[in-house]
Amino acid sequence: MVFVSKLSGITVPDINLVEYVLGECESRSGADHTLFVDSSTDESLTVAQVKSQAFRFAAGLRSRYDIQAGDVVAIFARNSISFPIAAYGVVASGATCTPANPSYTPKELAHQLSDSHCKAIIVGDGLHETVVEALTHVAHPVEHILSMDEARECAPHSIYEVMEAEADDTTPFTTGQPASFLTAPAFICYSSGTTGKPKGVLLTHANMVANAMQINGLKELDVPTQKAESFETFLGLAPFCHAYGLSYVLHSSVALGGKIVIMPTYSFESFLQTIQDYRITFGYLVPPIVCALSKDPRVDRFDLSTMHTVLSGGASLSPTLIEATELRLPGVKVVQGYGMSEMSPAVTMLSTSHRNPASIGVLLPNCEAKVVDDQGNEVSVSTDGELCFRGPNVMLGYLNNPSATLEIFDDQGFLHTGDIGYVDASGYFYITDRKKEIIKFKGFQVAPSELEGLLAEHPDIEDAAVMAVYDDSQATEIPKGYFVMRKQENDCFLDEITRAHAVVAWLHERIAKYKRLRGGFAIIDHIPRSPAGKIIRNSLRTMDHVSSRES
Ligand code: AMP
Repeated sequence: MVFVSKLSGITVPDINLVEYVLGECESRSGADHTLFVDSSTDESLTVAQVKSQAFRFAAGLRSRYDIQAGDVVAIFARNSISFPIAAYGVVASGATCTPANPSYTPKELAHQLSDSHCKAIIVGDGLHETVVEALTHVAHPVEHILSMDEARECAPHSIYEVMEAEADDTTPFTTGQPASFLTAPAFICYSSGTTGKPKGVLLTHANMVANAMQINGLKELDVPTQKAESFETFLGLAPFCHAYGLSYVLHSSVALGGKIVIMPTYSFESFLQTIQDYRITFGYLVPPIVCALSKDPRVDRFDLSTMHTVLSGGASLSPTLIEATELRLPGVKVVQGYGMSEMSPAVTMLSTSHRNPASIGVLLPNCEAKVVDDQGNEVSVSTDGELCFRGPNVMLGYLNNPSATLEIFDDQGFLHTGDIGYVDASGYFYITDRKKEIIKFKGFQVAPSELEGLLAEHPDIEDAAVMAVYDDSQATEIPKGYFVMRKQENDCFLDEITRAHAVVAWLHERIAKYKRLRGGFAIIDHIPRSPAGKIIRNSLRTMDHVSSRES
């Protein structure tokens, strides 16, 4: 059975993503509307200023650096008020933007720069050293390095110098554009998908315009949004390097005509302070922050009464936590959105008018779904199976990786998510398990096979596996290592533990902080593997209680 969205359909225009997003914003809220505010400096930009800066930067990219449609420009930066200028500028120029996670190590960044064949990179404050080292590992020369901030560190020019040399351009979409926005990638986000090293997810202008329209199609069901769209103040905390931050914050919320308060760094107190000071009405959060909202005593010291909606995405959020948060913050509704980078990312969402805390929501406009068993047969309503989706927001495919693309799509064009769940008779979706091996730490992906590959390179490791354990106190999965240590003569157990600790320290030097083995490690006698050498993860889970020696 194929489930079809019951929400009003959308018609996706063949238009540059930035033209759509900023055009919608201006027509709803006007050119003088304050669009972005930086919570750390209080600096703000109106719609007219954002357009002028982004469009002049686009013109400079073309004239000064010969950036054209088909070229890829990376952004390696934390959230800041300059991020949307840089990203809108790249996409408005007709080129493709690949945002990289600012926690990456040089080698992790080098993988993305090489894989995407990026021609230029825009670097945020404090990240230049990583880039300089990454460039020594990149397979092809990255021709231009630009600094995102005035400070410049080691890049010769900042994006502001590039735009300053250009005249105001009100029609940036008449030159240098791809032949069709339906097939041209606006962004290449990196995701492991269901397994392995991060792959380039090709998200076209049309995919991302569609997702902004779909999210807003559902939001318009919400009473507070309908009442005062242009007065909605959204929190820009979700990282812009991820499809979550891009699509929900920089595209759909901007297209709604909202105001975005950007938080460059996160601490729980500065988060509460920002909600209070900037009278935030709508927050895009991840489960660990919702968990803190439900129980951290510091919440009582702040006035959070302006906030009416928290949307949680990126990982599972339990109904108990939703209820606890709503009880703690009367007037706030907590709803979930579900998606995957490969779907731009949102595919189901709950509106605040739907009261169904266990559900990840209903299908967004123009989306279709089916639920299949291990043999690929469709199962009926309320039966668990793998969730599969089709729709205008679903990616074109993986960059230069036809086998991975072929693997994730079936012959009907449905994307197989690797998530297990079901749909009830009223069309609400639920997640119950995950078939794929990806671990979500606070919304960030950790691919066990990536860590297992690194561990296998260590001389003290005979064999290794990485699995998720759930940390209730933080409402997140955390990665845990399972090591079979290579035997050494006269090695006692304590020596083994010491060597295992050294292995963990060695691993942590090679990976971004969010991938760390926060769940510790267990030394075991063997890793259960199939005859083909595949780790039998279910058996590993059982062994955890039988034969492991924990640390
Ligand atoms: P990413 O591509 O990083 O957005 O990761 C996508 C994956 O995150 C999905 O395939 C799910 O496994 C998980 N995920 C995202 N949103 C939710 C949610 N609301 N509930 C449960 N899992 C989620």
